[in-house]
Amino acid sequence: MKKKVIVETSARHIHLAKEHIEVLFGKGKTLTVRNMLSQPGQFASLERVDLVGPKKTIKNVLIIGPARKATQVEISKTDARTLGVDPPVKESGDIDGTPGIKIVGPAGEVTIDKGVFIAKRHIHLTPDVAKEWNLANGDIVMLKINSDRSLIFDDVVVRVSEKYAPSVHIDTDEANAAGCSGEVYGEIIIK
Ligand SMILES: [Zn+2]
Repeated sequence: MKKKVIVETSARHIHLAKEHIEVLFGKGKTLTVRNMLSQPGQFASLERVDLVGPKKTIKNVLIIGPARKATQVEISKTDARTLGVDPPVKESGDIDGTPGIKIVGPAGEVTIDKGVFIAKRHIHLTPDVAKEWNLANGDIVMLKINSDRSLIFDDVVVRVSEKYAPSVHIDTDEANAAGCSGEVYGEIIIK
């Protein structure tokens, strides 16, 4: 049985803490839903911010809502070079030891002292699917992407939660390297 999961490309984005939303967009302001994403409850917002690095600025960066406990900025290695920062590869939520950056919105700006990282490629699975495939939260697998630039990624972390929908998340650098466009599926290879 093939373990096939849809592959989604995560473009650069920011998750904002509630207090930072108010600094960037104004007192009492909240994020406006543009469209819902595959992971339940998560949405792309209409609001955008600029990321100001030591080298360059990247404008109009997507904000993914709802508000989180801590602000985090997920960028590709290419973005990091553009901005002039050197973030580590990390799993979402684990921002210790990451660099900060300046974030500019229409009503104000915030300089965070940590929170910038390159998201570790991962697979979201529900407990049912994980059990069926004999996988557990935290497992490391390989993922084969079938495209005209077919590629096998190593070091893909499995994340299991009732709150997830099955999907693979890679960033734009990884998607470009694997020639992803349109609807793409990956096949999990257990090591
Ligand atoms: Zn994800």
